[in-house]
Amino acid sequence: VGRGLGVGGWALAGTALGLAAHGLYHRNSPIFGPVLHRLPGGGRRVALTFDDGPDPVATPLVLDALCAYDVRATFFVLGRAAERWPDLVRRMVAEGHRVGNHGYTHRKLHRLGPAAVRRELEAGANAIERVCGAWPRYFRAPHAFRNPWVSCIARSLGQTTVGWCLGVWDSDRPGAEVIAARVLAGIRPGSVVLLHDGDGSDLEGDRTQTAMALPDIIEGLWARHYGLAPLPGP
Ligand SMILES: [Zn+2]
Repeated sequence: VGRGLGVGGWALAGTALGLAAHGLYHRNSPIFGPVLHRLPGGGRRVALTFDDGPDPVATPLVLDALCAYDVRATFFVLGRAAERWPDLVRRMVAEGHRVGNHGYTHRKLHRLGPAAVRRELEAGANAIERVCGAWPRYFRAPHAFRNPWVSCIARSLGQTTVGWCLGVWDSDRPGAEVIAARVLAGIRPGSVVLLHDGDGSDLEGDRTQTAMALPDIIEGLWARHYGLAPLPGP
């Protein structure tokens, strides 16, 4: 008579499933490879990161605000948007910001096989290199969804996988004041903050609230003695 897995076996299987789910769905889980989600080196420095752009309306507003305060940030751009609005990516680079890869189409990667994951990452990075001449050193997975090969493939392309430790749901458009208040309430030394200057699923999506929140975010961070930095360079 087969005894199946037994209690211990089922518990182990459950644990393995739980770990796999954690690796898939938790943005900073190390199970599928290391993830940079905090600035290294300590100190009261934090990094603002902007995903899903460039966007013809919100990205110039974000860049204007960063420029007005002489602050550098990191943009995880989509390859298809970079190709459509290449001047905005070139402006990011010209103004000292870091540009990372967020894939080409914003497809969720966790259900894709290695060949499709590689195609998506390579297409995103190729688009960035074509429009601004520099190969991205960082990769952030759409929705942070990964599987066993996503970070391996990113690494093989010379890109460190990046997560975040503070997300404020700015894409729900709760109002610029709420976005700024959430950042200032959640910030810690070394925080990598997730914000959005584009919409990964809707090219017409409106991210202007995030741009409008930036003066309060930057002034609030400075008042709390934080410095702002892009992700570390090469
Ligand atoms: Zn995204």
